[in-house]
Amino acid sequence: MAIYKNRIDLHMHTSSSFDGNYSAAQMTESAIAHELSTIAFTDHFDVDFYERHNLGIRQQTSYEDILSVIENYSHEIRILRGIEMGQPTYDIPLTEKSLERYEYDFVIGSIHNPRNQPDYGDFDYASLSQNEIYSMLDNYFEEELLLAKWNGFDTFAHLTYPMRYIVQAGRNDIELDRYGDITDEIFRTLVANGKALEINTSGLRQPIGKTMPTENYVRRFKELGGELLTLGSDAHFTDHTGAGIDEGYAIAERCGFEYVTYFKNRKPVQVKIEK
Ligand SMILES: [Zn+2]
Ligand SMILES: [Zn+2]
Repeated sequence: MAIYKNRIDLHMHTSSSFDGNYSAAQMTESAIAHELSTIAFTDHFDVDFYERHNLGIRQQTSYEDILSVIENYSHEIRILRGIEMGQPTYDIPLTEKSLERYEYDFVIGSIHNPRNQPDYGDFDYASLSQNEIYSMLDNYFEEELLLAKWNGFDTFAHLTYPMRYIVQAGRNDIELDRYGDITDEIFRTLVANGKALEINTSGLRQPIGKTMPTENYVRRFKELGGELLTLGSDAHFTDHTGAGIDEGYAIAERCGFEYVTYFKNRKPVQVKIEK
């Protein structure tokens, strides 16, 4: 049973994502069964994999499928037209041109890989030295800051994403303390631009066992003036729609947030957190 009312999950994938598994209709039916009031479909659009992932076609299929579930299920659940822009700063002209193709409600900004390299999930962290991992993370946070400054998204997704894989590889010798200044700068940039921070709950069902970012970052975002928070399960399977959303609401409350946010026509709508 859900603990909170008005449960909102603004991050989920369909089979239009390269790593998606279920249709938009199957995901929607699961979201209704999991007592969600509002969802956004946010299929991957990793700009630097445009050709490899055949994104010209996938983007169209994703958008058309979203329109179709809106038509068929809007009496039961609010469905938003979203997209997860991966690495938009690696090709800004292509990103901007692609976003203009359709009328999105909601755009997620993400970084999944270093420039011209595979996903952070594809590195063998067990065999890398501590210095090598820190140098990857130095680059990661620099890229996240560039993403924040680009500002063409609505929510800033899964900050600390590489840690999911670093911890999974058994590396307990990597700490993020040294990145406090740059994450503060990222948060100040989001606040100045009126952008949201995402609490991505997928880590709760993975070995890391924590949200991305963790509660201390959410609290810091609030301290620096952050007001807009989105929550997302990052579900790629029907079983995961709404997963961890109650825990995300609890983190938001503990950090002093009274509202969570969804976006309609790229404008934030605040929804009170209530049990
Ligand atoms: Zn992502
Ligand atoms: Zn995602």
